[in-house]
This record gives sequence, structure tokens and C-alpha cells, in this order.
Amino acid sequence: MMHDRNYQEIIENICREIQPYAQLGRQADYIPALASVDPDKFGIYLSVLGGDDCMYGDYDTCFSIQSIAKVFSLAIALSLEGENLWMRLGKEPSGTPFNSLVQLEYEHGRPRNPFINAGALVVADVLLSHLDDAQEFFIQFVRQLSGNVTVDYSMEVAESEYETAYLNASIAYLLKHYVNLHNPVDEVLRFYSMICSVEMSCRDLARAFVAFAKSDEPFDHAGVKLSVSGVKRINAIMQTCGFYDEAGEFSFLVGLPGKSGVGGGIVAVYPSRYSIAVWSPRLNKHGNSIMGIKALERFTTETSESIF
Ligand code: GLN
Repeated sequence: MMHDRNYQEIIENICREIQPYAQLGRQADYIPALASVDPDKFGIYLSVLGGDDCMYGDYDTCFSIQSIAKVFSLAIALSLEGENLWMRLGKEPSGTPFNSLVQLEYEHGRPRNPFINAGALVVADVLLSHLDDAQEFFIQFVRQLSGNVTVDYSMEVAESEYETAYLNASIAYLLKHYVNLHNPVDEVLRFYSMICSVEMSCRDLARAFVAFAKSDEPFDHAGVKLSVSGVKRINAIMQTCGFYDEAGEFSFLVGLPGKSGVGGGIVAVYPSRYSIAVWSPRLNKHGNSIMGIKALERFTTETSESIF
């Protein structure tokens, strides 16, 4: 049984084993503020439901969560709109890079899913339409989920992304053309850049995602309410869409729902068992952390536990 396993020992062994891959890839630099991150950082944090937490390395250092924020914004949007949300976006894997425009044009402005940038911009728009102060609501939600009141936005990273958001601006204007963005393009881009700039540690992320790992109870945090099936849906979309055009590969290697960000973070959940966050800034060509995927692949292999 899982609680008999020595997860701490397994994690420490894995971190040693994957060292040969530690120098592969490089950190994201299309957002200038991310280019200065130390690429050799590595942290991992496991939160076991009803068990002890396990950790290794730089698990307490904050980094830019980037697209992992899309899970938090989806939870808020689903709570606000329910099933109506799916009138404006889909739930199919895109098979395209996170910032791709082509599919959005031939599918007439309806993004494939909430985790590619096009879908996340629509979700950001939904939050802006419903909430008086979406920025404040979002950060309070993340603080409550993680149990860390010091979690915050990075103005430097948000500004840096906004200033260079040429592709996201193109996507947003295309959405606007198809009347799938209700707020001004500029407001949506600013809010989207802000939520991506949130800084959290592996510990904060693993603890926040415990709420999604608790898949057999309704979700009720900081005014965000989801039914058991709402939580199931978020996990299902993480499984099928959490890694853009590498979602199939992640599922194949790791076998857990998860979400990555170009800050080098990956968080994955094993419903009813645990959540686990890994951080290593060096990315592969899909924008996903190389060591992060390696560590999780080894973890589910060594423990012989995955959802499959
Ligand atoms: N803020 C980033 C962007 O829009 C998020 C991308 C990511 O983490 N994959 O480009």
C-alpha cells in the first residue's frame, strides 16, 4: 500500500539518477525577465493525502508559475459559468504549441481548450466580466489554496511579458474579431500577464493542488465552488491538454494529470492520493521542463503507481 512506501527515499534516489539530464535544454527567454533565472535550480515537493510531505532540493524557492496559473483561472471560470463556459471554448487536445494561432483561425475563434493561450485568454476574459476586482480575487484564491498568504504577483515579470506579448496580442485580436473576447484586448492581456507572473514554490504548488487531488469531495475555497464532477473535469483536461503538443507524451511517460509552465514548473496529481510539484527551468522545445518530466516519469515508474 502507498502509505508504506518510503517516498522520501524514492525521491532522493530519483534526483540522483536523473543528474545526467541536468544540463539539457535552456530556460525560457522570450519573456525577458525569465532569462535571468538560474537554470540549475531543481526542487520537488510531494503532498500525500493523509500522509507525510516529502521534498528535495530547492523546493522552497519561488519561481514564475506561468501557465500553471491556467488551472487556477479555469477553476474560477467553471465555478462562475458552469457548463456555459464550454460555449466559448472546447476541451480537446490541440496538438499545437501553447501560443499557436493557426488552429484558432480555421476553427473560427473558438479555442480548442482552456490551457493553450487562446483558451486561457477567453478564461481570463470570463473572470474580468464577472468579478469586480479579478486580480485581487485571483491572488486571494491562490493564497487560500496554497495556505501561504505571502504568494504574490511579480510586477517585473508581468510587465516584461506584457511588453513583449506580440503573439498573445495577435491571438487576443483574433478572438476579438470572432466576438469571443468581451473586454478590451489590452485589459485581457494585462490580466493574463499578471496571473502568469505569480510566484510560488514547489511546496506552495503541491499544497494548492491537493484541492484537485481530493477528487472525491466538492471543492469550496475562497468563494470558488466546484462539484465532484467539476474537479474531475479539471483533472481530465490536465490529463489531455496540460502539456500542449506534448500532452500525449507526458501521459505516456508519467500517467498522471498535470500542468506545466515555461517558468520550468510542473505540477501533477494522483486523484485521491497525492499532488507533486517539480521545478527545473531548463525546457524542451515544447516549453516543458526536461528534468521535471524525467523526475515524474521516474517517480511513477519506481512507485509502480499511476492512474493507469
Ligand atoms: N505567460 C506565458 C505565455 O503566454 C505562458 C506560457 C507557458 O507557460 N506555457 O507565453
